[in-house]
Amino acid sequence: MHSPLTALDGVGPRRAAALATSGVRIVEELLLRVPLRYEDRARVQPLASVRPGVATICAEIVRVAKRPTRRPRFTVIEVELADASGTGRAVWFNQPFLLQVFRPGQWVVLHGTVEWTGQGPQFTTPDHELVDPPDAQAAGVAGVHTGRIVPVYERIGPLTPKVQRALVHQALSKLTGPVPDPLPVEVRHTRGLPERLDALWSVHFPAADADLDALAAARTPAQVRLILEEFFLFQLAVAERRLTRTRVIKPHRIVVTSEARAMARQVLPFTLTAGQKAALAEIVTDLQRDEPMHRLLQGDVGAGKTMVALLAAVVAMASGVRVALMVPTEILAAQHLRTIEARLAATPYRAVLVTGSQKGAVRAAALAQVASGEAHLVIGTHALLEDPIAMPNLGLVVIDEQHRFGVAQRATLRAKGRHPDVLVMTATPIPRTLSLTICGDLDVSSIRDLPPGRTPVRTTVRPMSRREDVYRFVRQQVAEGRQVYVVLPLVEESEKIEARAAVETAEALGAGPLAGLRLGVLHGRLASAEKASVMQAFVGGTLDVLVATTVIEVGVDVPNATVMVVEHAERFGLAQLHQLRGRVGRGNEASYCVLLYESPLSELARGRLDAMATTTDGFAIAERDLALRGPGDVFGTRQAGLPTLRMGDLSRDQALMEDAHALAREWLAQADEAAPARQLAREAWAGRFQLGEVG
Ligand code: ADP
Ligand code: MG
Repeated sequence: MHSPLTALDGVGPRRAAALATSGVRIVEELLLRVPLRYEDRARVQPLASVRPGVATICAEIVRVAKRPTRRPRFTVIEVELADASGTGRAVWFNQPFLLQVFRPGQWVVLHGTVEWTGQGPQFTTPDHELVDPPDAQAAGVAGVHTGRIVPVYERIGPLTPKVQRALVHQALSKLTGPVPDPLPVEVRHTRGLPERLDALWSVHFPAADADLDALAAARTPAQVRLILEEFFLFQLAVAERRLTRTRVIKPHRIVVTSEARAMARQVLPFTLTAGQKAALAEIVTDLQRDEPMHRLLQGDVGAGKTMVALLAAVVAMASGVRVALMVPTEILAAQHLRTIEARLAATPYRAVLVTGSQKGAVRAAALAQVASGEAHLVIGTHALLEDPIAMPNLGLVVIDEQHRFGVAQRATLRAKGRHPDVLVMTATPIPRTLSLTICGDLDVSSIRDLPPGRTPVRTTVRPMSRREDVYRFVRQQVAEGRQVYVVLPLVEESEKIEARAAVETAEALGAGPLAGLRLGVLHGRLASAEKASVMQAFVGGTLDVLVATTVIEVGVDVPNATVMVVEHAERFGLAQLHQLRGRVGRGNEASYCVLLYESPLSELARGRLDAMATTTDGFAIAERDLALRGPGDVFGTRQAGLPTLRMGDLSRDQALMEDAHALAREWLAQADEAAPARQLAREAWAGRFQLGEVG
């Protein structure tokens, strides 16, 4: 299993290098690369019964000839065939060596496309395999490439599916005796699953009577076994990391004192929802433990995660530790500072802002407050990660909109403290299987309710031809005192073009359908001071309409904004549309989201817009997004810590992931330090799944 591929006949340095680019370096890796699909070539037909389409036949070669053609260097090899029922022909283009392969009197199995010519059936460049004559064949024809259900692999550079099929067959044939099996025997037995080598044989070369539907759905026992093996190793690795982590004792101690309770009451302007209460209780329990917290707080946009995080921060600050809150944009950082400063006013705790655009004296003052510990809560962007910024006594790290940060960035912030408690927050709800996977070693709190008094946003989907009606409605809403977002899509080519598009759209609207209204423009090219002042004007109500690119996506909170118009909504992803929509519906007035699209809509875009129109539940949207796009696209494989899976599919195999999760925890709990399971777990993490730190 661990031999290099050059141990196989037919694999020299060049093929080995090609395979290596696809991560296939040893025999085991070749065997764990499952077929893309299967083709049923088991049903061998008599030549006389072959009809146009795809067929498999077994016949004797009667004549082999090179047919003359007018084009130079273009060869056609033609083979005449016969079996007991009739005759036929096959042709191959530009494969002159076949003249040496086929000999009259030999028997051959062919599989491929058949056309009907005047002289009977004709195969064009079929797959072929030389076989013994029928009377010498034991039980029908069962070759490697024909006469059976054959695997079809994804092409790797010069290695065609056929070449790979031969290599896999050779590799399997060379494996004798038992192969090491990471899946415990008990697990296999209780689930009635085959041994590893048997499973590998059946996955690559299914028996002639195998269930093709089950194969296509990856539900044969052999496939299930290999998927479970992969998930088990993954979950074992996750569980192992978790165990290792819980052995760390954090240097700071957090206890909920009566002072902490009093401060929390000071800070809280409203009653928490049930979801917020439950999440806060889980977080505070974690904070009081000896081991550092590693928790994900997920909740839809507007669920009120900020307040939960702030209360957790108050509890931590009351025990004397410092807190850092990192957010992905300066706008959001400034907004958090504003709300949090206001809430902390009645307490002894001070917050300070650290962003990249701060210069000179402002920056020096901010850093001094952080370094001296005078600031209890640091709110900032990526700028917090910079080297010179030291945060003494950092005990709690909160990362908002965590999916916007890379794994390394999250680790850097954490490293500013000594085993701080870590709370990461996301407004992109994660379906359960995925949270078992991406956040495998995080504990998860979910807020599923919304603060009271929210009326769900009414979402409508309209073609561009209705744009005027839409902006008439916008005028009406503004006349009633409401504010409006107009969102323009991201322009991939350049920020400059995007900025110009935003300015031009705003001008056109101001000169046309929105004439007389107070319009502001927000885009990525504005200096952060300009951004802040535009945002401030919108928050303060001196702008009626904010024309913006997606810079407003994250976290912006203006309760009086009740309408969002998204131009070219077909260009946005589902999660992004949902995030955007979360900017409205934050106050007590009825809110509207209008998705304007350019026709014609692609199937996928229609799916996204339909999903938006039919539900406002972020968890439901996340499930739809996952189904539409697949997990890799939803979360960005490496960045979000998605494992590189070979067998399993996170949308298709959810139940198996649940099974593996439970299994791994159980198994590891029983295993002692030296057990093979632990060893496997340690190797699997970095090696097989190529994961770094999660959270
Ligand atoms: P998100 O979870 O998207 O970060 P925020 O924390 O920004 O949501 O909260 C959205 C809005 O809801 C804010 O204006 C906040 O003050 C308000 N809010 C949060 N919790 C409650 C609550 N329990 N009752 C009333 N309003 C709340
Ligand atoms: Mg938020």
